[in-house]
Amino acid sequence: MQNRNGRPQGLVTAGQRAQLMRQGNASAVLRAVLAHGPVSRAEIARHTGLSAPSVTKLTASLMEVELLNELAPVEPTQGRPRVPLRVDGDRIVALGLHIGLLRTTFGLVGLDGSVIAERELPHHELPDLSPARITEQAGRAVRAFLAEKLDGRRLVGTGVSIGGWVDGARGRVVEHGPLGWRDVNLPALLADSLPGPLVLEQTVRAIARAELWFGAGREVDDFVLVMIGNVLGAAIVVDRTVHRGPGAAAGAIEHLLATDDPEAARCPVCGAGCLNATASDTALVARARELGVIPDDPADGAALALERLVAAARPAGSGTGDEQAQDLLRTRARRVGRAVATIVDLINPSRVVLAGGILVADEYLDELRTEVGRRSHRGLAVADDIVPAVFGARTLVRSSAVPVLEQVITEPFSALGLLQDRPAKPV
Ligand SMILES: [Zn+2]
Repeated sequence: MQNRNGRPQGLVTAGQRAQLMRQGNASAVLRAVLAHGPVSRAEIARHTGLSAPSVTKLTASLMEVELLNELAPVEPTQGRPRVPLRVDGDRIVALGLHIGLLRTTFGLVGLDGSVIAERELPHHELPDLSPARITEQAGRAVRAFLAEKLDGRRLVGTGVSIGGWVDGARGRVVEHGPLGWRDVNLPALLADSLPGPLVLEQTVRAIARAELWFGAGREVDDFVLVMIGNVLGAAIVVDRTVHRGPGAAAGAIEHLLATDDPEAARCPVCGAGCLNATASDTALVARARELGVIPDDPADGAALALERLVAAARPAGSGTGDEQAQDLLRTRARRVGRAVATIVDLINPSRVVLAGGILVADEYLDELRTEVGRRSHRGLAVADDIVPAVFGARTLVRSSAVPVLEQVITEPFSALGLLQDRPAKPV
């Protein structure tokens, strides 16, 4: 086998090797600026271990291709003024598109993880929720949106995220129960209407990748993101890569044991007091309705019902808040803590990042942390490593786009088409 330069495949020339090394160093610079920015060149040198002249050269190339820009110089009390650099969030952008049960959301996301503009497409306007209907609706709306919002920015591709069981590497939605999808080749359905390259990722893993580059995972190489909401799932990040395993089936935490309280609900699937039966938003809201803590109004969606429960628990004015509501939220936090302790003992991550409905009442997070500390063999010290996710409501569009932005961060010159397989100079 030979490549197009007529050399045996797998061999790289000295010129290519130098380019790859330059790209690796440029990526290290970008990552340092993302994690610590805005930062001066001297600080970048310190964080990356690169020499000052290398940092000067690399930052110049990165500024030339609009990945970095300079802020106004800062005058220190002594010494030379420092010029802070930051990642340019408004030149290189990716489209992020998330397909949920009730709506599709999409938008433009800058290389610094900022959401520039976004839009929502409610699914109730569609005659059915088939893959063809949803992707057709999205394709049409995205074209109109880009014509209006792209505004001269450079679009490097589209990231699509969806819940359920997703094998991103094979481009397949293996199963999405609530939408009734099985074995759907989503990239093929979207390829003609969305700007490529197109990257598919499962929602919880996409959220973990957003936290990895722009949020609670910036300073650590390994963590577990635990999503506790209507949806339950975990994403395991090891050496800054999401672990998937065979069939991309990793991270299913629904049936981890959350309580052995004989009064607690039993799961129809596993028969135990698992997270699914006793600690999801759905389970919590159902119990609150059953006890009459919140009205049993079917018109309230799960999110609204959860907000009502949190509002009932919160002390208002001279009142102390509904004790039953507080007890439900505290019990849920403890149950999640028990399951998180199992995850901590099994994986021993540097951090656990919590996401989803569990964060709407963060006054109970200490309850959760204490329970993890009490159950884990690492003891109470582990409590400090349990942190909330950084991104709130706008996370779905951002996290959908991250797998595409990640390619620019890790291989900036290749992703922008600036690294060619050039023939080596004659020696
Ligand atoms: Zn179960």
